[in-house]
Amino acid sequence: MDFKGRQTQKCPRCGGKALINQTKCPDCGLVFSKLEYATNKAAGERYKAGERSAIVFVKKTPIDLKKWKLILFGVLLGLFGAHYFYTRRWWWAIFYLLGFALLSVCVIFNGYLVGVADGALIDVLAFFVGIYGVCWIFDVVRICLGRFKIPVSIPKHMQVVENEEQK
Ligand SMILES: [Zn+2]
Repeated sequence: MDFKGRQTQKCPRCGGKALINQTKCPDCGLVFSKLEYATNKAAGERYKAGERSAIVFVKKTPIDLKKWKLILFGVLLGLFGAHYFYTRRWWWAIFYLLGFALLSVCVIFNGYLVGVADGALIDVLAFFVGIYGVCWIFDVVRICLGRFKIPVSIPKHMQVVENEEQK
């Protein structure tokens, strides 16, 4: 398809290009309007079932989450990864918990660490904690600008309806 000089949108599932007025992704077949009904809860169920391909990352807050809660969690409890727990992005949530644990170790045992640990270990620790801190700042900025990605999926009972329509 020729996209030259025409307004396009990016498919949240495959990243392919589609025209702004197209209702369906020409590459993967995702019906864009269905995303209106996609929920983060359904994405959580897909994770559990190992159905990664049914999960789409979107920047728009899905119907079962609240943007103000995401902002609150991200800003106030972000260092614990609360915004990742809230959006069911578990791996990142674990990364934040780990980051917080290491940050605590650095703060509490600061003097002790310098005494017993060698410089290389402290460098690695400081590097990790630094990355974790920068990630958090970027997350807060992304959340506030509405660019934080949230996994969603179309609930299963709605997909059944879709299949029946096609028959
Ligand atoms: Zn697509």
